[in-house]
Amino acid sequence: MLYTSTRGASPKVSSARAIVDGLAPDGGLYTMSPNEIPKLDWRELQNLDYPSLAAKVLSALLPDFPEAEAKALVEAAYRGKFSDPRIAPLHDAGDLFLELFHGPTSAFKDVALCLLPHLMKRSAEKCGDADDILILTATSGDTGKAALEGFRDVDGIRILVFYPRDGVSPVQKAQMVTQAGGNVKVCAVEGNFDDAQSGVKAIFSAMPAGLSSANSINIGRLVPQVVYYFSAYFDAVRLGRIEAGQPLNFSVPTGNFGDILAGYLAAEMGLPVGKLICASNANNVLTDFIRTGVYDRRRPFHKTLSPSMDILISSNLERLLYLMSGDSALVASLMAQLKNEGHYQVPADLLEKIQSRFVAYCCDDAGTETAIAKVWKDSGYLIDTHTACGWSAARAFGAENGPVVILSTASPYKFPAAVLSAVGLPCDGDEFDMMEALETGTKVPMPENLRGLRSRPVLHRDCVAPADMLEYVKAKKAEPSWA
Ligand SMILES: *Cc1c(COP(=O)(O)O)cnc(C)c1O
Repeated sequence: MLYTSTRGASPKVSSARAIVDGLAPDGGLYTMSPNEIPKLDWRELQNLDYPSLAAKVLSALLPDFPEAEAKALVEAAYRGKFSDPRIAPLHDAGDLFLELFHGPTSAFKDVALCLLPHLMKRSAEKCGDADDILILTATSGDTGKAALEGFRDVDGIRILVFYPRDGVSPVQKAQMVTQAGGNVKVCAVEGNFDDAQSGVKAIFSAMPAGLSSANSINIGRLVPQVVYYFSAYFDAVRLGRIEAGQPLNFSVPTGNFGDILAGYLAAEMGLPVGKLICASNANNVLTDFIRTGVYDRRRPFHKTLSPSMDILISSNLERLLYLMSGDSALVASLMAQLKNEGHYQVPADLLEKIQSRFVAYCCDDAGTETAIAKVWKDSGYLIDTHTACGWSAARAFGAENGPVVILSTASPYKFPAAVLSAVGLPCDGDEFDMMEALETGTKVPMPENLRGLRSRPVLHRDCVAPADMLEYVKAKKAEPSWA
């Protein structure tokens, strides 16, 4: 199985090459052909522990990694980094929450970003590439810190993270600007996440050599996320919430469409997945798209309580369009329309396929707070603002449509102001005071990695305009070492 560009104008490459390069030279995203998605017999995977399950899924999707090698990488990636040995435990609070926030930065991106550096280093070796890869990443908040933690002090790789100056929470910002490591840099961009992401994409087209990406456009980011759909399914069976073989629905708080696309891959690999529920906040471009087939980014950008979903251009949707149509010329033309005109409409038969698998709901900030309050009141379980959108979408979907697993994408401690206010506790002082107040008020323990954040020294202060990002990257790449 080779990886091909969603836009069809680049040569096919091995899975290792796709991981090293991140983005295809024609600007498309590396994806398997729709008729080559590998199948797994889920019945044979039911009783495996997480690393063994991950090894099966990884080696199926990344043929350059035999199962034993994949298992060793998974064990090295997660060992000692997750506070829960199950990695992605399914929590039964009446509603089923798939807790993806037990990693080193308390957000779901850790699951993939602890593994990606190991996949990338090994892939570069397999491809015979020289050392000194520069990882370039735009972040809406959580990716940046998770990537920095994943890549810090990995030999032969440096990482540079751009974040929107006014688009991340104070805690997210503190996590990034205090990041230690001899191979890391963090730089603010004067703009929103889409400016930062577009800037990074432009740099990739301008200077492709020696650059790679930790964004969810990298197939090495996507593949590790497929694993927990399988583990969640098996856990739901074990909890007696479904019969083995019965379809299970998943509600996924969505921004760049990576996490939910991993669910689609799990379904195509043979897992009995029902509907994938795409949960958005007030930036509901995907809700409209899934309901109407019209993708239209020409709308106001809202800063919401769930900033990691404040996105108007969901990059990974391109992969779905390709996987569901098999038509790279169509994808290339839709993406050109999006770039030039800000909107596109998919053909009716493609929309029908999308709607056979996906449903979509959105929830504004008031709905987010209501969801947090209700779950806390009814079950004493504390959820974050992103998970709240997922919960709200699951409710809108309706219990009559079968059991739903809600992906819990961040610890509530990452968004303490909104969570405090939602559960009716006073929100005084700065965000760091609020984290402490949340712990005192709810008795839910704060993740260790967030303790003491306030007093860590700021190590990164650079800030650039979007137009200056390319020059900044050239200058930094030319420096022999950042240590
Ligand atoms: C990144 C992120 C999301 C969105 O995930 P995508 O894969 O970009 O759709 C949701 N919740 C949190 C907390 C995140 O960090």
